[in-house]
Amino acid sequence: MVVPIQRVAIVGGTHGGELTGVFLAKKFQQFPLKIQRNHVETITLLANEKAITMGTRYIDTDLNRAFNPQDLANPQLMNYEQSIAKNIARRIQQEKIDFIIDLHSTTANMGLTIILHNSHPYLLHLAAYLTQINPNVKVLQHPPDYNGSCLINLVELGITIEVGAIANGLLDAQLFQETEYLIHAILDYIAADKQGKPPIASENLTFYRIQKKVDYPRNKQGEIQAMIHPQLQFKDYKPLYPGNPMFITFDGKEIFYVGDSTAYPVFINEAAYYEKGIAMYLTQKEKYCF
Ligand SMILES: [Zn+2]
Repeated sequence: MVVPIQRVAIVGGTHGGELTGVFLAKKFQQFPLKIQRNHVETITLLANEKAITMGTRYIDTDLNRAFNPQDLANPQLMNYEQSIAKNIARRIQQEKIDFIIDLHSTTANMGLTIILHNSHPYLLHLAAYLTQINPNVKVLQHPPDYNGSCLINLVELGITIEVGAIANGLLDAQLFQETEYLIHAILDYIAADKQGKPPIASENLTFYRIQKKVDYPRNKQGEIQAMIHPQLQFKDYKPLYPGNPMFITFDGKEIFYVGDSTAYPVFINEAAYYEKGIAMYLTQKEKYCF
């Protein structure tokens, strides 16, 4: 399907400690020709510069939860991230950006994940193409009722890339190169589609749809009472069957998954999600046929 995308933004450092995106964005700023394609212009943006300098995820609040339209329109929300969210939203609009690639990394074993924030057919075809050229690419989809506050929600068309497992503040050369390759593949697809020659994608797309979040077992004070079970650690996207162990308490008691169907957990033990009350998300494996 031909979608006349004119301008793309590649965003790094939405979370300051996620160095893969930070250094890819810096590389593209240094060598802008690498990300130009016929009739498609691409700009780069370092989103949270203060957090990048400090080497932290954010200064006051999570930037990637600051983009819901009511918050952007609320002049009273002016902490550091709330202010820069407003600036970024303005810039995306002024520069007429119609596609965003937002670069993230995770301490969970997510491999090369692309996150779709809606089910636009363009994104589904693009995702099918990316999984076809690299079968290691996994596609994660928000639930249909998702009403987003992420940076990517500034545009209808965009992809969040999550790579891991990697600690915050670290670079991993292989993940860096694989992410870079994925970005080039996305830009190639956009340019080819615009010329009416979309690369051929497979006839179906396997993806994982987020169903719900699971928190750690906690006491009344909110303190964590158990850890991710060693059998579940790093098992993102692997089937979790009812009765399988999920958590283990500090004195060794196992806590089991009690759902009534097989789940595919993702973002297992993501460091930044302890404060958000998320030990993992459970997803359902689905297939879309074109
Ligand atoms: Zn991130």
